[in-house]
Amino acid sequence: MTKTPPPLNRYLLDRESFADHLKGEPRYRVDQVWDGLYKRFEDFDDMTSVSKDLRAHLAESLPYALTETARSTTPNGDTVKWLWQLHGGATVETVLMHYNKRSTVCVSSQAGCAMACDFCATGQAGFERQLNVGEIVEQVVRSIREAQPRRVSNIVFMGMGEPMANYDATWGAVERIHGDIGVSARHITVSTVGIVPGIRRMANEDLPVNLAVSLHAANDDLRNELVPINKRYPIGDLVDACADYLRIKNRRLSFEWAMIDNVNDRAVDAEQLAKLCRHLRAHVNLIPLNPTPGYAVRGTPLSRVNGFRDHLEKMGVNATVRKNRGTDIDAACGQLRANHEVAVAAPKRANSIEP
Ligand code: SAH
Repeated sequence: MTKTPPPLNRYLLDRESFADHLKGEPRYRVDQVWDGLYKRFEDFDDMTSVSKDLRAHLAESLPYALTETARSTTPNGDTVKWLWQLHGGATVETVLMHYNKRSTVCVSSQAGCAMACDFCATGQAGFERQLNVGEIVEQVVRSIREAQPRRVSNIVFMGMGEPMANYDATWGAVERIHGDIGVSARHITVSTVGIVPGIRRMANEDLPVNLAVSLHAANDDLRNELVPINKRYPIGDLVDACADYLRIKNRRLSFEWAMIDNVNDRAVDAEQLAKLCRHLRAHVNLIPLNPTPGYAVRGTPLSRVNGFRDHLEKMGVNATVRKNRGTDIDAACGQLRANHEVAVAAPKRANSIEP
């Protein structure tokens, strides 16, 4: 199979390459168009101070990377999910969550994911391809337009894919979102399944973004099972990399923990987790397990999720139960899968839901 790289897209070029693309135009013109794209989020057609010819050239040479193929909104309107088609046919999703006056965008960094966490819908579907900077940044821009008049204040790399397995595009997008769109580093969060070299690399970048680690288990036996990449980067190495990140960046670390019935929600799990958290002063986000077609184990009932949180709190750990946004439109954590043809897995555990 031959692979052709995707063509240029509107948000792919950095400022310097963009200026090259407009060679022959005066500097102020380049600035005007750039600000139209990144400050006013305009279409080229809206840039009426630019000549028609130039607008036509821009529209033709720099097409959008994302074609909207579906959009769902929760009944109360607080969550919007898009399904986008990319060049070449792969599809990805973006989720926009509204709060009172501000909104958070959850972006995808890959079409599919190769990390193969059993309970995650994206992982169940497998890896398709990497996203480039433009494909990530455009998810943010299109969300900003949709959110108006609300302000998009937070960007989380918690959509489809493993950002650290597409490091360059992820980091390129972070820099663009920060430097050009103007979102501060403390409002950008990169979530990883625990790719240690990626965490170490990010610790050496200038921008102190937030780090979230999808932990789900605090001992290697269980984590090897739930998060297969743990066999390559075991908990001890992961914790060391997190500790270094915190020391260098002085940012809060959070652990994501999907609550799986009788798997990682026992008292001993809370105790092991608390030990790691106290060492790293990490915050825990407890995510009630969202149903996915390929994983037949139940989520922990909410009363026990709350009990697990209280147990952590008693041991001196800050923990929040994450509100399940968008479950009814399959937009919640781990439900993002553009490919809707995942087979239903055979139950593997004693506590599996009866077929
Ligand atoms: N690959 C990155 C980014 C994805 S973030 C990472 O793993 O961090 C998506 C979050 O949702 C992760 O914390 C993931 O573990 C969690 N998740 C996956 N499947 C889930 C499910 N079925 N229910 C609840 N959370 C889930």
